[in-house]
Amino acid sequence: MSLQSFIAGVPKAELHVHHVGSASPRIVSELAARHPDAGVPSDLEGLREFFTFRDFAHFIDVYLAVVDLIRTPEDIRLLTYEVAREMAEAQNLRYAELTCTPYTSVLRGIAIEAYTEAIEDACVAAERDFGLVLRWIYDIPGESGIPAADATLEYALQHRPDALVGFGLGGPEIGVPRAQFEPHFDAARAAGLHSVPHAGETTGPETVWDSVRLLGAERIGHGCSAAEDPALLAHLAETGVVLEVCPTSNIATRAVDRIEDHPLRAFVDAGVTVTINSDDPPMFATTLNHDYEVAAGLLDLDERGVADLARAAVDASYAPEEVKARIGTEIDAHLDAHLDSSRRVAGDTP
Ligand SMILES: [Zn+2]
Repeated sequence: MSLQSFIAGVPKAELHVHHVGSASPRIVSELAARHPDAGVPSDLEGLREFFTFRDFAHFIDVYLAVVDLIRTPEDIRLLTYEVAREMAEAQNLRYAELTCTPYTSVLRGIAIEAYTEAIEDACVAAERDFGLVLRWIYDIPGESGIPAADATLEYALQHRPDALVGFGLGGPEIGVPRAQFEPHFDAARAAGLHSVPHAGETTGPETVWDSVRLLGAERIGHGCSAAEDPALLAHLAETGVVLEVCPTSNIATRAVDRIEDHPLRAFVDAGVTVTINSDDPPMFATTLNHDYEVAAGLLDLDERGVADLARAAVDASYAPEEVKARIGTEIDAHLDAHLDSSRRVAGDTP
């Protein structure tokens, strides 16, 4: 078995993947057919071409075109359910924490009550139909400032879905100081939500420090620039703050120039816990499986190492304990089956 097929077969958990950013050409074609007036092609070939990653500006165009197709609660339900299908069927995911940005949908006319009901409905259906356990992280779109943070906190606390586990912060980092969101994160954490902001993707280590010190971050989205600050790496390692690393996304957005320069190995060498994630996979022309392959290349991993990476994501997740235990057992079984078959090929056993 090649490392590639081993990776494809590993049961996985993903912690950093965006809801709208996971819409594939197939899903967008369904949404486009529902809203022909949006002017987005609904034929799959046309959409595949539209989705082909060119540069960051084009990614934003694709992202906004998809946002424009999500107009009704049924669109939200369909998007969520179909994303779950692809996660389970194509990436062998058993668990995912999907980062949702309810502020954007409410701004476009979907009431928060209907939004909540749509994602919760899809969550129940995804577990029943695909065996995928979904949990949510609500993130503040940082570029929309305090009004977005106030609203997102209210959606999280006053309209809290059962499956909400975390509170995040996304969007651009430049010109969006973390300190302004400290009260929002304080309130979310007081209500039992985990703090999982993006930081250090496009700005320096100071943003990661701020996220840890001011926002109480338990996991950091990206954290690339932490590699520039040995004291920060030591702090992350000591305190167990986990990095959600998204290798292909980092190249697409130019957070990192070349994959050879990716700080993943520096994180691991410093003792920081890392997890591998795909961020906005169809829009960055990646998949979670592909990002594991990239990570395996950067870290020189064999099958055991890949299994360890998969376990790290399960351990760093906010999944119920029985779900963590179940996926851990499945990962062990996948590795054991591989080791057994390698031994047979090597002729070690009769
Ligand atoms: Zn992200």
